[in-house]
Amino acid sequence: MPELPEVETITKLLRPIVVSRKIIGIDILRKTTILGEPEVFVKNLVGESFTDITRVGKFLIFHLTNNKVFLSHLRMEGKYFELDEEEENTQFARVVFHLDNKKKICYDDSRCFGIMKLTDEARWRQEKEIAQLGPEPFDIDDVTFLINRTKRTSLPIKSTLLDQTLLTGLGNIYVDEVLYATKIHPLTPAKLISKDQWEDIVKESKRILKEAIKAGGSTIRSYHPGKDIDGNFQTYLHAYGHKDDDCERCHHPMRFIRVNGRGTTFCPICQIKKGLPISVGIFGLIGSGKTEVLKQFKEEGFATASSDEVVAQLYKREDIVKLVNKAFNLSFTDAVDKSVLRLHLANNPGDKKKLERLIHPYVKEEVASFIKLHSLSAVEVPLLFEARMEGMFDVLIALDADDKIRYERVISRNAATGDFLTFINQINNSKFIRNKRKADFVLTNNASHEDLRKAVKKIINTLLNRRN
Ligand SMILES: [Zn+2]
Repeated sequence: MPELPEVETITKLLRPIVVSRKIIGIDILRKTTILGEPEVFVKNLVGESFTDITRVGKFLIFHLTNNKVFLSHLRMEGKYFELDEEEENTQFARVVFHLDNKKKICYDDSRCFGIMKLTDEARWRQEKEIAQLGPEPFDIDDVTFLINRTKRTSLPIKSTLLDQTLLTGLGNIYVDEVLYATKIHPLTPAKLISKDQWEDIVKESKRILKEAIKAGGSTIRSYHPGKDIDGNFQTYLHAYGHKDDDCERCHHPMRFIRVNGRGTTFCPICQIKKGLPISVGIFGLIGSGKTEVLKQFKEEGFATASSDEVVAQLYKREDIVKLVNKAFNLSFTDAVDKSVLRLHLANNPGDKKKLERLIHPYVKEEVASFIKLHSLSAVEVPLLFEARMEGMFDVLIALDADDKIRYERVISRNAATGDFLTFINQINNSKFIRNKRKADFVLTNNASHEDLRKAVKKIINTLLNRRN
């Protein structure tokens, strides 16, 4: 989706192409692109000449002779193409403007979310699409209205900055960039953003948008009649699109989560989530000491849960019993018997993935509501990444230990529980080694119990300090 800098670039690219050219005909190939009557749109604009193109937020404003104006919003995929009259229209041409110089401008939109609307010089600023927009960062000197408008909202700052009625011009990409630059965690409730932080947000928004516009500007200078005028030049990005890359500031891997459905990339170390609940996800191989760590978190006042316990509870739920019976042709009555199920999986190894796919969404749901209930929580999730639960936690702790040490622990615990088989399967677990990189803290638990406790205590102190 084009963002403000792209739309600014498109404005600059289109201006010399259309200004002082007269429209001699318009083909509306898809009526719903036009808000209002398509016939009226055509009748009003044919015979007029373009006098300028300006921009408000992500709207292109086409100005024509006799005070005619039309607005255009590209939404997801809208693009303008300049073509010679004899050339074929582009594949998804929706509106075609024929000009008086044997050229035509195709408005192309594969997704058809873009719109055009006829208006005039006297009215266009009052059209609801424009009137409802908040100011652009460039026009904000005083952040008081931002504080006032958000002082009661618990929505994450990421969602708040995307709200174009509050301020206009920051889309998904640049909100991630601005939050990265200002070191604000995207989930921070908007009401907790301080005046200094708001000032920082506005300042960085201006700088980032200006830089991006400038980058587009350099595209313009080297622009030659390539005909796709979509102004795509998303370079200079430090957060957006950098999932799993190292943070440029602290070299910790960047993390990807969804915030109200929008993909969000941020650094879990630099972008601090002040004064907020903390949820900790603990993962690691069998025999690495996850349970001990979880116990210590409990002693320190965290609410704790383990996904194994969650699964055990789920297996007692009537709907789950039914689902499992149906999926694997079994006949549990009151509850899923784990040992019977384990035997079934041993005989049908292919069903293991199927079971995970079936049960993981429920585990996720349960853990999510657990986290929500507690301001400090820690959850042991052995298959954190396999269950795609890494994004649910603020902090990830990986537990590691040498294979030999883990082996001894598992044996001394109880080899007969089946843990031993799991252990064998997990030797040289390359997936774990890969995922370990993404943890915020890695604990190598090869030494004494006391050493582990000291290391965990240090992490807990770090986390509690971050809250203040
Ligand atoms: Zn960082």
